[in-house]
Amino acid sequence: NGAVNEPAPTPAASPRGGIGGDPSTGKDDKIKVGFSMDTLKEERWLKDRDLFKAAVESLGAEVVIMAANGDDAQQISQAETMISQGVDVLVVVPHNAEAMAAIVKKAHSAGIKVLAYDRLVKNADIDLYVSFDNEMVGKLQTQAITRLVPKGKYVYIGGADTDNNAHMMKEGVFTILQPSIDKGDITVVYDQWTKDWLTANSLANMRAALKANGNRIDAVIAANDATAGSAIEALKEQGLAGRVPVAGQDAELAAAQRIVEGTQTMTVYKPIKRLAEKAAELALKLAKGESAGADRKVNNGKIEVPSVLLPPIAVDKTNIDDTIIADGFHSREDVYKNV
Ligand code: BGC
Repeated sequence: NGAVNEPAPTPAASPRGGIGGDPSTGKDDKIKVGFSMDTLKEERWLKDRDLFKAAVESLGAEVVIMAANGDDAQQISQAETMISQGVDVLVVVPHNAEAMAAIVKKAHSAGIKVLAYDRLVKNADIDLYVSFDNEMVGKLQTQAITRLVPKGKYVYIGGADTDNNAHMMKEGVFTILQPSIDKGDITVVYDQWTKDWLTANSLANMRAALKANGNRIDAVIAANDATAGSAIEALKEQGLAGRVPVAGQDAELAAAQRIVEGTQTMTVYKPIKRLAEKAAELALKLAKGESAGADRKVNNGKIEVPSVLLPPIAVDKTNIDDTIIADGFHSREDVYKNV
């Protein structure tokens, strides 16, 4: 293929086996991946964007990336744009697990397969899910905190109710807490979602939790480092930062700094590079009509979605050097900047 006299391949004749390709890009036979992101707000999503782009390009394909600023209507319209631009496969980080089901339908009617990246799309015939084991994230957080505080009053600062990951993590948290709750050792005195993952909401929730309990809180499990940061801010206002264990996830730089400073107990590190590389590799397989070889299944309310779930890693001050710093996720200099 690619001989000068040959006509541009029709989508059906394309060697990549994609359907619905744009004839204007068909000439170089490069697979085109659409990456529809919810947001670039948390630090991790910038890494996801850059590492996914690099991974797709290193495999000889190209990628169009759009981020929706936490807005469902915008994310749907951006994904529609990518479908009409003739991407060969669509990779989606849904803002809203349910709302993006509409896009899966549209993509499929254009012959485009859809991979859910990090967050599951619910109630849709999604082709593949590539993420970390989110239930394990909640378990790791809770194991770390219950080791320090086996008895007492716990606050759970959840993620966004519209994000399936928030539900899976919570499942993991309560799986570990339940035996201690049943024994009467642990009481969860406050448990709220954080609407849209916004820290203004988690800050308000943590202030409310402190107020409702006269500041008598023994431990906090927060669904990510951004919400953990706001919980610690609220603790600081009451002179309690560093005295109440707090768990987060994402290994954001600010969280890593708080861990070495002693105001955050632990985070859960999810090596984004591995996720981005795995998702890029499997997205290209979907585009070529090859099997992705997923070894797990996750029920999304409609089907058992073939899934690849990577292992998350618990990080506290004892292993921060050997994990996120050794991996180059953050530099030692940045992490220890304030101590
Ligand atoms: C991700 C977390 C992230 C959160 C907020 C979740 O779906 O798994 O890593 O912190 O969304 O963006």
